[in-house]
Amino acid sequence: MRRLLSLIVPVFNEQEVLRHSYERMSEVMRQLDYDYEIIYVNDGSRDDTMRQLRAIASEDDRVRVRSFSRNFGHQLAVTAGMDIARGDALIIIDADLQDPPEVIEALVKAWNEGADIAYGKRAKREGETFMKKFTAFCYYRLLTAMSAYPIPLDTGDFRLIDRKVADVFLKMREHNRFLRGMSAWMGFNAVPVEYVRHERYAGKTKYTLKKMLKLAFDGITGFSYKPLSIATWLGGITCAVAALGLVALIVLACTCGVPPWLWAVAGVVLMQGVTMLLMGVQGAYMNRMYDELKGRPLYVIGEDINVSVEKE
Ligand code: UDP
Ligand code: MG
Repeated sequence: MRRLLSLIVPVFNEQEVLRHSYERMSEVMRQLDYDYEIIYVNDGSRDDTMRQLRAIASEDDRVRVRSFSRNFGHQLAVTAGMDIARGDALIIIDADLQDPPEVIEALVKAWNEGADIAYGKRAKREGETFMKKFTAFCYYRLLTAMSAYPIPLDTGDFRLIDRKVADVFLKMREHNRFLRGMSAWMGFNAVPVEYVRHERYAGKTKYTLKKMLKLAFDGITGFSYKPLSIATWLGGITCAVAALGLVALIVLACTCGVPPWLWAVAGVVLMQGVTMLLMGVQGAYMNRMYDELKGRPLYVIGEDINVSVEKE
């Protein structure tokens, strides 16, 4: 039996690109030696997108559509696609053809050669503003420095994931999702496939600055405890400085005397340090609560050999 590939395409107000994008994706999928389904997740579009999706789905029974009641955001749209995908491998791709469908062949090849995750790595970005490229460049590097797990540089959500990776995604129900980070957290054999990211085929970006900032923040807060440990570090340093200052004051007081207000300053600095240190301690407990709340699986299995699980 031929294996099944699921293409997951999130769409939000994409009336200008949808039809063309569907045709190009279908063209590529037909040439591969696999069965396929195309899952569109309509993320609360307010234009002609849903009407077009209905028409496409009525012409092509490989097309499946899940439509949200309002805009929930790209990461949740992709998640909804994963929830209903039936494929042996899932491919996540934008509707605007910035991720060229022709690269799917290379992703599938990497999968056949043993990759569990084949992710598109942007060798070049065409037709995007300097500001977008510059902020993306800085952000990816900041994220890599902060994250406890290696999140690949210059990589978006365009990727192929094996069924076993998709099954782990299904178990991770955290609300503020950053799929790339979750994928890095899981591990597995992840292989880069380089590609040139093209200009949007038509229409304007649907990722507003606000949405981008939220995604950036989710990436850091979901996968790094460093922001919380800032208080601990600052508190520790402040306490050390205050302690040194106090020692110096005692020495001075014994030799030539010091004005009384200097004692007050040293005392205030010390108390500030202690407060910050205690905030850091609270942060450490918050980290732990946050971990429990996320409810991620405790570990992810890559492979079992001779492990039979007795069910009661
Ligand atoms: N998208 C979505 N919900 C949103 C924003 C975007 O489903 O709230 C979809 C959009 O239709 C596209 C993909 O996510 O298929 C990537 O969005 P876009 O191309 O606008 O982002 P950019 O490439 O500019 O970062
Ligand atoms: Mg785009």
